[in-house]
Amino acid sequence: MKNNFDEASAWGDSLKYLRWDSFEEDSLSRQMISVTVHEWYEAKHRSMSLDEVKLINSIEVTSCRCCGSVKIISYCKYRNGIKRYFCNDCHSSCSALTGTIFEDRKIPISEWVEYLVHLFEFHSITTSARDNRNAYSTGKFWLLKVFAVLQDFQKDIILEGKIYLDETFFSVIKSKKELKENGNEYRGISRNKLCVGTACDEAGHVLLIAENTSKPSMKSTWNTFGSHIKPGSHLIHDSEKSHSILIEKLNLTHEQYDSLELKRLADDDNPLEPINSLHALAKRFMAAHGGFNRDNLQDWMNLIAFLLSAPRNRYEKIDLFINMALNSTHVVKYRDVMSKNSSK
Ligand SMILES: [Zn+2]
Repeated sequence: MKNNFDEASAWGDSLKYLRWDSFEEDSLSRQMISVTVHEWYEAKHRSMSLDEVKLINSIEVTSCRCCGSVKIISYCKYRNGIKRYFCNDCHSSCSALTGTIFEDRKIPISEWVEYLVHLFEFHSITTSARDNRNAYSTGKFWLLKVFAVLQDFQKDIILEGKIYLDETFFSVIKSKKELKENGNEYRGISRNKLCVGTACDEAGHVLLIAENTSKPSMKSTWNTFGSHIKPGSHLIHDSEKSHSILIEKLNLTHEQYDSLELKRLADDDNPLEPINSLHALAKRFMAAHGGFNRDNLQDWMNLIAFLLSAPRNRYEKIDLFINMALNSTHVVKYRDVMSKNSSK
């Protein structure tokens, strides 16, 4: 027997139709309730605006989104006004949204603007889902779509000039923590930490890459930074020994500081301040997502790198993201991602 009174269906109504909506005459209080509930529904089920249709139709589809053939013709429109293409090779039809994260045409892209405002403001997915009156699982699914769009975001980043470089650490989740034999936690940089290599330069490039280790080594340092630093640059860093491989192989000049001594300085006097403040922002962002799935660590780092790179204006950032998403195809299937990530 169903015993979930939070679910509208258990009450025999949906937000779209209340049972008395079909009555000819009704009380003023019932009408008031109807109007309120339908407003909620409308807010949650906005239809696609003309501006949105115009945006989507401005994207030129030059090849079939199913088979890649160029033998496609634009032959009619979907009911919502979006151009429909037909492929003469595989006989399927597609639109500019086919294969993008916006493929589900029932949800307008404008809904994403609200979601992204919350995500980029360092809200957690839980609060964001609540604010948007979206199901929590939808918020999580959309997050995985965001991750898909940003998966290659850091691939081509090359830092140059004055480069600040360091490592920061995130704890593994409680249930996966290894404890000492006496049940106490390991202290300092232990096997329960996940190392992330971080760097930034004066041009505004930001790099955050999971090193897949708890303690940096020559090998992990090289794998993390080797392809992202322009040879001959100037490195500003702490006394971590493994950095020497970068200095040697990439012919870098460098200035090295003892982080313990730097702790006594005010932020403004600290030569490592740019990388320290990057760490502080990354920690603040991740604190809002405390229970994040560590299997997605690199995805989170991609998101933070995206947020902290230029442009820093929130709406310019949303514009950039939507254009990236409209111009790339990613397969993110609800069923697949939810089962893979259901452990959280
Ligand atoms: Zn085709």
